[in-house]
Amino acid sequence: MDEQIIQKRILKVTIGTASIIILLILCSLVLIISINEADKDSYNAQLKSLVNEYKINFERQIDSDIQSLKTLASFVEHSQAVSFRNFTKGLDRASGEGQFQKIGYYSKSGKNVRVVLSKGIEEKVDLKDVNVEAQKVIKKSWEGEVEISEVYWDQQLKEKVIVYAVPIQDDTKQKVIGSLVGVKGLDIFSEILNGETITKVNLDVDWINAKGKFVTWSDHSIIKEKMETIHEGDYISKRNKSIIKQKMKERKSYFSEFQVGNTSYPICFQPLELNGWYLVGIDTSKSVKSPVYFMLITIAGIFILVITLCAGAIFSGYKILHKNNEELIQLAYYDQLTGAFNFEKFRDEIQKALTYNTNYSLVVTNIRHFQYINELFGVKKADELLEMVIKTVKQYVIEGEKYCRYQGDQFYLLLRGNNREKIRQRLFYILNAISKNISESKAEYELNLYAGIATSQEGDKACSDNLIHKAEFALKQAKEGHGNTIKFYNERMHEIESLQNFIESNMNQALEQEEFKVYLQPKIALGSEKIAGAEALVRWIRGDGTMVFPDQFIPLFEKNGFCAELDLYMVEQTCKWLRKWMDEGKEVVPISINQSKILFYKSDYVERLCAITEKYHIPNRLITLEILEGLMARDVDKLNQTIQQLHKKGFRISLDDFGTGYSSLNILSKLDIDEVKLDRSFLSDDLMKNETQKVILKNVVNLAKDLHIETVIEGVETKEHHTFVEQIGCYYGQGYFYSKPIPCKEFEEKFMESKRESTKQ
Ligand code: C2E
Ligand code: CA
Ligand code: CA
Repeated sequence: MDEQIIQKRILKVTIGTASIIILLILCSLVLIISINEADKDSYNAQLKSLVNEYKINFERQIDSDIQSLKTLASFVEHSQAVSFRNFTKGLDRASGEGQFQKIGYYSKSGKNVRVVLSKGIEEKVDLKDVNVEAQKVIKKSWEGEVEISEVYWDQQLKEKVIVYAVPIQDDTKQKVIGSLVGVKGLDIFSEILNGETITKVNLDVDWINAKGKFVTWSDHSIIKEKMETIHEGDYISKRNKSIIKQKMKERKSYFSEFQVGNTSYPICFQPLELNGWYLVGIDTSKSVKSPVYFMLITIAGIFILVITLCAGAIFSGYKILHKNNEELIQLAYYDQLTGAFNFEKFRDEIQKALTYNTNYSLVVTNIRHFQYINELFGVKKADELLEMVIKTVKQYVIEGEKYCRYQGDQFYLLLRGNNREKIRQRLFYILNAISKNISESKAEYELNLYAGIATSQEGDKACSDNLIHKAEFALKQAKEGHGNTIKFYNERMHEIESLQNFIESNMNQALEQEEFKVYLQPKIALGSEKIAGAEALVRWIRGDGTMVFPDQFIPLFEKNGFCAELDLYMVEQTCKWLRKWMDEGKEVVPISINQSKILFYKSDYVERLCAITEKYHIPNRLITLEILEGLMARDVDKLNQTIQQLHKKGFRISLDDFGTGYSSLNILSKLDIDEVKLDRSFLSDDLMKNETQKVILKNVVNLAKDLHIETVIEGVETKEHHTFVEQIGCYYGQGYFYSKPIPCKEFEEKFMESKRESTKQ
């Protein structure tokens, strides 16, 4: 899977999980808040009803005071007829009941009296001498209503009081003639507010006026400092203070929080029906944060803890996953030794690159003799070398170019551009830089690389493997060279390759179906110009009649080992023809058959050879075995042993292609051969013009003669060649001048029936 897709998936899972966690937290918060709100609401209702109890008691007291005063008032009205002295005495008695600290009568006409408890009767008290608050309510009550004053400080009584004023009417009950005034200390109210509710709850209830000023303080008030109004201090938040002021103006009840130290208590503002007064109840037994709240907070805490733990687990899981994923990616996509891409990843990358643009060249490069470096200098040094290659490549590639290492010492590079010359130059530069880096690293060997390049074409878009395949094919060709070698892939290579593939996959079948045919080329005895032998050359006549020449498949068969089979097959086919001709009473000539190197070193070679000749009853002297000069590179003694065995059996041995390899002339004295075939390159145009060359050839012929080795010269194509080779004393000539290799049937017709005639064409 693609690296980016995996990353995206992991990201998706992470985002998904994180969203779920956030959602859970939000849901739980909403739940907690709403439960808390519901709890608060229900508590507030409870608090309000408690404060209401105080309110009812408070107002009941006022009602009862007014009621008492009204009763006195009716008494006053009744006693208007009696004398003023009696009236004042009656008033004194009434006040003796103790409900009021003072009782007074203020007539509109100025006939005033005041009864002060335990201080006796004061007559003619001037209205202007009484407290202004009292004056206000007295005057107001003259208008016919019962009035209650604000709280004020009574100088005479030395306490805070309120005043009730009840209008007094004349006999006719039509006119207010004065008012009866009761002055009441606040003790009774304090008592009420300090008392318990029916439910035995003890609230801290304070009485405040319309401006928020404290009238009475609860005995167990939690407000320690002296403050004039409820709005002072930091007990109530600023925001709430302004809301409270507003609510008080509107005469509404209100709930808030009252903060003392670290605790905030629920507070309830409950309006009284009089003078804008309020009762303020603070439940000091209970902080705003109720048990439910604490329970919720605990649950929330646990919940958040669990979620956090889960999130932590998920996060570390993600990290592990990410790390594992990275490790997997590293394993799946990268070469562990060099850190470069591995082949699979590289293949993906070039496929991607080619989809957008075919302007690329693919390079495959390999280190020459890497296995020796490995063996001679150790794996560690060899590994360092591989790392060095990647390091150098990395320095030279540009953006968009890719590279990888594959199976040991093979490297692939995707280079931009497909201009052959430019690519060749760049690659040479890179390969030389690698070689240079290695020699600078004090390596004790010289490093060379070979490389195959394929430039991309439109067709490679669909299949990058095509391009890889072509570059690899070019690499095989480059291997043949020396030093830093670069080979470009071309169509000719492709043809060769497909032919080779065809040959390899069809060779066995072709052998079975006898598609390999013997062609014979005569060997002419120079001087007499008579046929002295022939060389058997293989031709592959395919099912469709087309002919494949040996240079197209022999090198391949030599590599894949099939040559051994083919050579023995050729021996058998040749024997078949010889047998046929002998049976027909024809005079046969020795036939030379090419023998490949691998065959020559097989232990059962001689045995198998004899088995064939015996099968067809062919005398072995009729078979000349052509061995290649290249064989000499190996052990000469071993070769001579085989030659000896073959000689014993009667076979003749010919050394083929002499003069093309590296062996010196003295090889002729070392090998026990019957014949030497001088390579046709001796007769090339250039050499024919070269006198020295001619002298050399002549001397080789003479040397062979001295060693009793017969000489055959190949490639006699012209009359000139023929004359020359005849002159220098060569025994035999072979070449197109006499005949091309021809099918056996044709050979039979041309050379065997007319055996006594001249073979010259
Ligand atoms: P070779 O053994 O040196 O065979 C001689 C080659 O020279 C033949 O090519 C022949 O056709 C060619 N030739 C003959 N006269 C002339 C001439 O005047 N001018 C020129 N230019 N060429 C001439 P051919 O048949 O294509 O065979 C090529 C090579 O393939 C042979 O070289 C031999 O090495 C190998 N070969 C052919 N048949 C067999 C076989 O059955 N077994 C093995 N192991 N190798 C074979
Ligand atoms: Ca030959
Ligand atoms: Ca030859």
